[in-house]
Amino acid sequence: MPTVLWFRRDLRLSDHPALVAAVTQARADDDEVLALYVTDPVLWRVAGPPRLAYLAATLEALDEALGGRLVVRHGDPVEVVPAVAREVGARHVHVTAATEPFGRRRDEAVAAALARAGAELVPTGSPYAVAPGRLATGAGEEFKVFTPFRRAWLAHGWHAPAPRPRSVPWAALASQGVPRPPAGDVRLPPAGEAAHRARWHRFLEGGLAGYADRRDRPDLEGTSSMSIPLKWGELHPRTLLADLAAVPVGGRGEPAREDVDGYRSELAWREFHADVLWHRPGSRTRSLRDVVPEDAWDSGPDADARFDAWAEGRTGYPLVDAGMRQMRTVGWMHNRVRMVTASFLVKDLHLPWQRGAALFMERLVDGDVPQNQLNWQWVAGTGRDAAPYFRVFNPVVQGEKFDPDGDYVRRWVPELREVSGRAVHRPWDLGLVAPEGYPAPVVDHARERERALADHARARA
Ligand SMILES: Cc1cc2nc3c(=O)[nH]c(=O)nc-3n(C[C@H](O)[C@H](O)[C@H](O)COP(=O)(O)OP(=O)(O)OC[C@H]3O[C@@H](n4cnc5c(N)ncnc54)[C@H](O)[C@@H]3O)c2cc1C
Repeated sequence: MPTVLWFRRDLRLSDHPALVAAVTQARADDDEVLALYVTDPVLWRVAGPPRLAYLAATLEALDEALGGRLVVRHGDPVEVVPAVAREVGARHVHVTAATEPFGRRRDEAVAAALARAGAELVPTGSPYAVAPGRLATGAGEEFKVFTPFRRAWLAHGWHAPAPRPRSVPWAALASQGVPRPPAGDVRLPPAGEAAHRARWHRFLEGGLAGYADRRDRPDLEGTSSMSIPLKWGELHPRTLLADLAAVPVGGRGEPAREDVDGYRSELAWREFHADVLWHRPGSRTRSLRDVVPEDAWDSGPDADARFDAWAEGRTGYPLVDAGMRQMRTVGWMHNRVRMVTASFLVKDLHLPWQRGAALFMERLVDGDVPQNQLNWQWVAGTGRDAAPYFRVFNPVVQGEKFDPDGDYVRRWVPELREVSGRAVHRPWDLGLVAPEGYPAPVVDHARERERALADHARARA
């Protein structure tokens, strides 16, 4: 009888422990591996067009790598997965373990349904180097602070990448085909394992040297863009960590130690957030700490209009608008600008972080529940080891510091293209030559900062 490998957010063939487990099982049974993907209408409904279009593109790439043998079925996995197992007479369905609240609940239900059908759900590995929930403090508790987590994570270490099985006997079965949702007007990056592996190698060769200095600069291509393949599992973080460990450092033209350590540390943040969500599934929607009173949040038509201005990149603050337009155009935004735009929503517009997080999840191609929700909580000051609430990003100063010549703003805000240099960050100072079509600031940052701090002081009192 064939073994089923049910792909979810592990859309690759290299360094894939669940694939290795499925192939081992199939060889023991002297049979084939059935590659299955289920388009779950629940997940399909909440994702915005760019994410769906990207998912479709990466599924196409996976199907091609499988020689056209990817079996796509539509429907609730609790029904579809046991039905497929029954159809082919499989007794084992291999998966990469899900670690987020939705996936954990779904897998429990699928495992129970499979058991009723006389089959077993077999989880192997996770989308992380160290599985969420594995590490504990000396007192046996969950980590609440990043630095000791990172220390424990580095000390724990991880397996070497799993070898790619040589010839896999993929089973054939009728497929309903990959759906083809349009991306709207978003320019998507190339999808699939091979495309991202090539991009990663380009980064290792040309981008890692200087990463520590350049990673905060949205005007330079200073980061790796690996958040997209890590989200969809087109690459596993263990692969990246193994490659990083092999990079020669310190020589001429080579990355410095702090470039490599800095990059590894960013991957540790990804693992920390997954660990926090594992222990606190409620943090997907609820603040881990209350830092302002409930009545501090604005609501009503004016608040909605300000939210729309933010979402459309019309706040009149150039760095905020550039970031929101970058996300709308390419489905991705630089990390520094994600921090500034998120802070602006929470502390300048006094809107709850959950509202912004929902829009990011809809529009980001790398939109990922643990990373998105807990980074929003970090900015809002409500999360684990978060930025203190009283630290309010000044969008103008941030622009002058991290986009010093204004190139990033000019790239994404065409109304400001004629303004040269860093003056682009203060269009209100241009006097009579104020650019036509660019809005005046929707709020006064200095005043809103005072209000945010007063709200915080009320909560503390
Ligand atoms: C408000 C907000 C929302 C965010 N939403 C998401 C999201 O939905 N999905 C997502 O993957 N990242 C999210 N991030 C984190 C970060 O912005 C992106 O991972 C990063 O911009 C991706 O670009 P890169 O791959 O070029 O990063 P690089 O600088 O090349 O970093 C390498 C990798 O490290 C990890 N990493 C880097 N920064 C962070 C961070 N702050 N938190 C966790 N992991 C990090 C990512 O996996 C990234 O691919 C968010 C950050 C903020 C402030």
